[in-house]
Amino acid sequence: MARVMLTGGAGYIASHTATVLSERGHEIVLLDNFSNAERDVPARLRGLIGREMPVIEADIRDVDAVSAALAAHKVEAVIHFAALKAVGESEADPLLYYDINIIGAIRLLQAMQAQGVARIVFSSSATVYGQPDASPIREDAPTRVQNIYGRTKLVTEDLIRDLARTGKLRAAANLRYFNPVGAHASAVIGETPRGVPNNLMPYITQVATGERPYLNVYGNDYETHDGTGVRDYIHVMDLAEAHALALEHILANDVAVTVNLGTGIGVSVLDLVGAFERATGRRIPLNIAPRRAGDVASYYADPAAAAAIFGWRARRGIDDMCRDAWAWQARRSGVNDL
Ligand code: NAD
Ligand code: UDP
Repeated sequence: MARVMLTGGAGYIASHTATVLSERGHEIVLLDNFSNAERDVPARLRGLIGREMPVIEADIRDVDAVSAALAAHKVEAVIHFAALKAVGESEADPLLYYDINIIGAIRLLQAMQAQGVARIVFSSSATVYGQPDASPIREDAPTRVQNIYGRTKLVTEDLIRDLARTGKLRAAANLRYFNPVGAHASAVIGETPRGVPNNLMPYITQVATGERPYLNVYGNDYETHDGTGVRDYIHVMDLAEAHALALEHILANDVAVTVNLGTGIGVSVLDLVGAFERATGRRIPLNIAPRRAGDVASYYADPAAAAAIFGWRARRGIDDMCRDAWAWQARRSGVNDL
């Protein structure tokens, strides 16, 4: 059992991780500036896990505030989720992304060092691989970042590896997420994209509610089994469980690891639409559109390292992902479907 701070704690992946950590007996402290989270997430989370938790409203770049929170709550490890995550926005405003994602990580690490907190789990992304030579992708595949967002993830990974190598951190896990989707089975927490969703699953669920007329399929002429883009979708609760195991691993071992978190299964746009229609009984009208700039045809993880190191494996399939994503969106949109 540990006392752990979740930066970006009110966000999508952190809030789901909080439920698993709490179930496993860890004490959680949430820190968020609420720039991309709804104000009532902590209250919903309290309802879900049935206990109180400290919530600190602060920016990760505020060393004094983070330092004070680490000290006040005797934090032993940090899971660092807080970041900006929109690729397009990162290309439009690189300095903003360097500031929050890179300077933010440095400020957090400074606060941790000041308080003697020397264990961190970091939210990285499969985007650091860029255009892979082949899938499944292992962690030793070349990193070829293709946008500013990806750059900020790779630089932060490097900073963390350097601090571990020089003994300034005792233990660290850089977790490279593939494509997180879905929601907690209760439909009390989930993903709340702002405006028009960029990502496939939230777009599909909004077509299903009738908020959007059809799904644009960005390209059906890729070299994939049905011509549409292939990704490794991972249920956010599987991802949450991986964080708990990663945390427990770095609490017990002085190591620095970099690990993919995916299912290892490549799923096309049409596969996901089909699964969604079967799981929910809703029809998703399609519009075949041109390829989206910068898209990769296919990538999916080799998840063997996570299995070997943390004893973790994704347990939920695309039917679960579709069902839970839909329950969440239907509830938010007031669609009576259950
Ligand atoms: P999210 O936006 O839901 O969560 C991030 C949280 O951080 C938000 O609650 C936001 O308010 C907070 N935050 C942002 N800037 C902050 C700051 N300066 N100080 C304090 N809090 C701040 O995003 P998410 O999808 O839950 O992503 C969590 C992490 O996982 C991010 O680092 C993201 O880059 C990474 N990641 C996400 C995905 C994905 O598809 N969702 C994929 C790979 C990696
Ligand atoms: N995609 C699509 N229509 C959309 C959104 C996404 O066809 O409205 C496709 C996209 O081209 C890619 C896949 O769905 O092949 C996953 O896209 P997403 O943006 O969710 O993830 P990423 O491309 O960042 O891995």
